[in-house]
Amino acid sequence: MKKYDVAVCGGGFAGISAALAAAREGKKVILFEKEYMLGGLGTAGLVTIYLPLCDGFGHQVSFGIAEELLKLSITYGAEARYPGNWIDNIGARTEKDKRYEVQYNAQVFAILAEKLLLENGVDILYGSYVVGVSTENNRITKLYVENKSGRTAYSVGSVVDATGDCDIAHFAGVPTALFEQGNGLAAWYYYSNPSGYHLQMVGVLDTPDERRSEEEEKPLTNRRFSGLDGKEISEQVCLSHKITLEHWLKKRETDENAVISTIATIPQNRMTRKIVGEYELAHTEMHTYFEDSIGMVSNWKKRGPIYEVPFRTLYHREMKNLIVAGRCTSVNETLWDVMRVIPCCAVTGQAAGTAAAMTDDFSTLDVSKLQQKLKENGVVLHEKDIIK
Ligand SMILES: Cc1cc2nc3c(=O)[nH]c(=O)nc-3n(C[C@H](O)[C@H](O)[C@H](O)COP(=O)(O)OP(=O)(O)OC[C@H]3O[C@@H](n4cnc5c(N)ncnc54)[C@H](O)[C@@H]3O)c2cc1C
Repeated sequence: MKKYDVAVCGGGFAGISAALAAAREGKKVILFEKEYMLGGLGTAGLVTIYLPLCDGFGHQVSFGIAEELLKLSITYGAEARYPGNWIDNIGARTEKDKRYEVQYNAQVFAILAEKLLLENGVDILYGSYVVGVSTENNRITKLYVENKSGRTAYSVGSVVDATGDCDIAHFAGVPTALFEQGNGLAAWYYYSNPSGYHLQMVGVLDTPDERRSEEEEKPLTNRRFSGLDGKEISEQVCLSHKITLEHWLKKRETDENAVISTIATIPQNRMTRKIVGEYELAHTEMHTYFEDSIGMVSNWKKRGPIYEVPFRTLYHREMKNLIVAGRCTSVNETLWDVMRVIPCCAVTGQAAGTAAAMTDDFSTLDVSKLQQKLKENGVVLHEKDIIK
């Protein structure tokens, strides 16, 4: 049976960050990804806006791998909408809205992220769906993976669930919570015309109906999607394709040279399932000091709020060697819409991967040692340490 120190399940921004962090600690790491590219929603899902690392008032909040990946994403400039020095003039969608964020090219980023992981010694297994686990004495002992070779069991030390859907925690019987409202339909696609290659955001926001303002785009359909049912996901994807086609045909009435150039190859779901962690961070806990903070995130929706992320949001004591990262982190319903975005996934990914390299029992980890390693790797843990 194949054996690894750390198994990272899912290769979105959370999984990339986790695998990189664990490998840099010298561990034998494998990353299972069901698609054939890294980046998850941030590449295959065509969500190519790396939301802000700053608080909107000129203070950087997220550091470490979150910043490294942002810079990686615009290495060759492709689609780099907001290059330069963000404090002076970038991170700005408009001159008055300066934030440390970028737009990047999905395909270039996927290749660069893959190169980065390979250079750091991560074994990447594409086309590989983690479909089940074996547990013993509150530990995951094996992961079952299906791919072209059939079904293979992997023996693992610690496991990072970066599936975005909290699949591994669910398989292992760890408490999880669902996004009860379900996802509104999105149909983001790329088109090209003689002036370039453009992101077309169809279904741009997913505001709950009671908070939807008059100016907001109307929902594309009244149907909502859990993102967790095989048949439903296929119907969702077909509907999204139908809407993409209609949207493009309408566009051609005024832009006859526009052609669809890329469609998403994974379903565009924002929130599906998350862990019920040892702690649930709430939207009201901005500017709160947490002794066990593993890094900070800002709020992409508004300027000001800064959240320290407690280590306890990443695991449940019931499964000793399982940690989550990315959009399955334990936060309340309102904060979920903030914590699911790319920089937050990188922050939790780096912490989860570093922790996974240190222990196979997260509830007994000496968090101060984890924090020390994160600091050595560029992470700033507390708001009081941001120079203002
Ligand atoms: C329409 C839409 C618009 C958005 N807009 C933005 C935006 O502008 N900016 C922003 O920062 N964020 C945005 N987001 C959110 C953001 O893109 C994602 O929440 C974030 O990228 C999630 O990263 P992740 O690594 O946690 O999960 P994912 O990106 O979902 O990655 C999970 C990976 O795990 C793989 N996987 C899943 N299950 C398994 C399994 N069982 N076995 C093996 N592999 C598995 C998947 O294929 C995927 O690659 C948007 C999301 C949507 C849907």
